Amino acid sequence: MSTPRRLLARLRTLMANREQPPAAADLPALARLVASELVSEVCSVYVAGAGEDLQLVATEGLRQEAVGRTRLRVGEGLVGLCAATGETLNLPDAQNHPAFAYRPETGEDAFASLLAVAVRRAGRTLGVLVVQNRTPRRYDPDEVEVVETVAMLLAELLASGQSERAETGLAATLPRRFNAVALAPGIVIGPVVLHSTGLAPSRLLADDPDRERARLEEAWQAMQRGIDRLINDQLPDVAGKKAADAHASREILEAYRLIAADAGWLKRVNEAIQGGLSAEAAVARVAGELRDRMRRITDPYLRERLGDLEDMAARLLANLDGAQNQITVPSGAILLARRLGPAELLDWHARGIAGVVIEEGSPSGHAAILARALGIPALGGARGVVESADPGDDAVLDGDDGLIFLRPEQELRVGYVHAIEVLTERQAGYAAIRDKPSVTLDGTQVRLMLNVGLAMELGQLAATGAEGIGLFRTEIAMLARGEVLDTPEQSAVYGRVLDAARGRPVLFRTLDLGGDKLLPGLPPPEEENPAMGWRSLRIGLDRPALLRRQLRALLLAGGGRNLSVMFPMVATVAEFRAAKALLMAEAARVRPGPSALQIGTMLEIPALMWQLPALLRETDFISVGTNDLMQFLFAADRGSPQLAGRYDVLSPPVLDLLSELVARTNEAGVSLSICGEAASRPLEALTFVGLGVTNLSMPAYGILPTKAMLARVDLARFRPFLATIRRSAAGAASLREPITTWAREHDLPI
Ligand code: PEP
Ligand code: MG
Repeated sequence: MSTPRRLLARLRTLMANREQPPAAADLPALARLVASELVSEVCSVYVAGAGEDLQLVATEGLRQEAVGRTRLRVGEGLVGLCAATGETLNLPDAQNHPAFAYRPETGEDAFASLLAVAVRRAGRTLGVLVVQNRTPRRYDPDEVEVVETVAMLLAELLASGQSERAETGLAATLPRRFNAVALAPGIVIGPVVLHSTGLAPSRLLADDPDRERARLEEAWQAMQRGIDRLINDQLPDVAGKKAADAHASREILEAYRLIAADAGWLKRVNEAIQGGLSAEAAVARVAGELRDRMRRITDPYLRERLGDLEDMAARLLANLDGAQNQITVPSGAILLARRLGPAELLDWHARGIAGVVIEEGSPSGHAAILARALGIPALGGARGVVESADPGDDAVLDGDDGLIFLRPEQELRVGYVHAIEVLTERQAGYAAIRDKPSVTLDGTQVRLMLNVGLAMELGQLAATGAEGIGLFRTEIAMLARGEVLDTPEQSAVYGRVLDAARGRPVLFRTLDLGGDKLLPGLPPPEEENPAMGWRSLRIGLDRPALLRRQLRALLLAGGGRNLSVMFPMVATVAEFRAAKALLMAEAARVRPGPSALQIGTMLEIPALMWQLPALLRETDFISVGTNDLMQFLFAADRGSPQLAGRYDVLSPPVLDLLSELVARTNEAGVSLSICGEAASRPLEALTFVGLGVTNLSMPAYGILPTKAMLARVDLARFRPFLATIRRSAAGAASLREPITTWAREHDLPI
């Protein structure tokens, strides 16, 4: 018998001989067994206690007097590092690792190599399992796998005595407010239901791999049938409300089914079964690995793909355990989840939830897209909300301002009841203005356009009445596919976009890859600051074949029609010229070429502001990417939750920059637009228009609220006010407050 199977068989015997459920008292026996089976001199178990401490609770090989005494904070020493990152450490020379923290009472100076694996369950770190040896060596993949499997078992042991909930006593009854990321607009007041990750299998070990494989196959078939039912039963319901969104939802679920079929992760599950795990434990294990990979990926789109797989693992597990989650959902409930996949969201929607908070959800995620399609107000972020809530707690979800309140005070609740009434009235108004032109009260036309990246979002053009696509993010389709599409494939995608736009303008942005958004075939550079590294147009200029292939595809798609192409992350006029030269070289070869070709640049890097005379002579248009511009202007990572909201786009430096840009582009006759999330918020849109910007491009949900706001604003009155506060509050960090007050006084729907 192989080491893993023998070790697991012996662990099974150890557990089976107990009368009560397994408990922490089993830990010394477990450490002994692991050390002897792995031929390692040390096996130790550290457990996370209250606060941030990890305590040595059992060891084979270190001094016994250290048990109960040795403590490390999360983040301290190698054990603390493993707990903090959740990543496995495999070190031949542990004592020379910069994070090593020597604890003399353990006598560990004799041991050179170390393997540390985090013990995690339902997203929480419960402890760390460590194996050590005297001789310096790197543990081989089989050994790592065994220790990771034991860590999973250990997670069950440790969790059996613990509650999932962090808040207890008085804290659990107090009102709490969480800042979140708005994923889908709307307000809900209702009781909370908690989504459990469902990734805790009830049976871990099994001795008949064939039987487990058969169970897996059966559960797999059942899960596939379940997804088919979801697609067929639920989406027609959506279709009645919004055809375009239903189409998007169907595409998402079809893509999801493809991911399930071809990801190769079933192979990993089968290997784990062969190693001695039950089918459900094997699924949970592979899902755990996915979660670890997910933690290292910052690109929201890719995280979402892995999130879908995790969602699938949870469904498979539910099928294997034979107990689908049968919590009854009170009507109008708000679902709180750490993660949630699209199929799960559909399930919960069918069970009657009215709102959802997904701690790890991002606006570009599938669950968020579906929530918008289903019309369910949704939030992402709000870390800690799941831990702080009890089922049935009263809550207010504000999907407009990105807030969730648990156990709200009466006054706040009443305020929101009133807000819901206003909102309902407003929604009725939006439908009426969809096909009307976007114009201010005093007659200034403002072109509102869409930011999109997937063909399935094109339906939003009709749904919102947008005047075109102000930003088509071409990299998204490739990231979804995981490879660079060839010229005909790209050309087909761009052609479909132009078809859908039916003559309305589309600004195609060339590949904005980089950081984590790297595709196979592009060597990943090791960089400390990927956002400021080898990304975007820099890659395109250094790998001109890649960029030329895309430019050719764009030109082919644009044959006989208008084509607008813009380059992202331009830092110098020389870069813009080089990119434009590539485009012109391709244009000379493509027949039939576009009937008109506009070539523009994004303004995301502040340095361009000091190159305007040259730039304005060469570019047809400029589109300001506020997301990146803000991060480079204030040196504030746009992905850092700690910095979110710290610097305001409605601040003197940004408004001065934009105002200067408006003046200079007007003089030069160059068209200017603002894309990026800021343009989608009515207060920001009001200010940009007040500065003289007349093209705004934004995510779909911003279009109608912005149009409604603009229809009520008299710019002739707002402009002097804006000029006055810009002069009088020159040193202020933000002008948001006076602008908000003005908008309220003038009864603008912001
Ligand atoms: C921006 O930076 O504002 C922008 C629109 O581009 P992206 O968000 O894709 O970086
Ligand atoms: Mg950008």
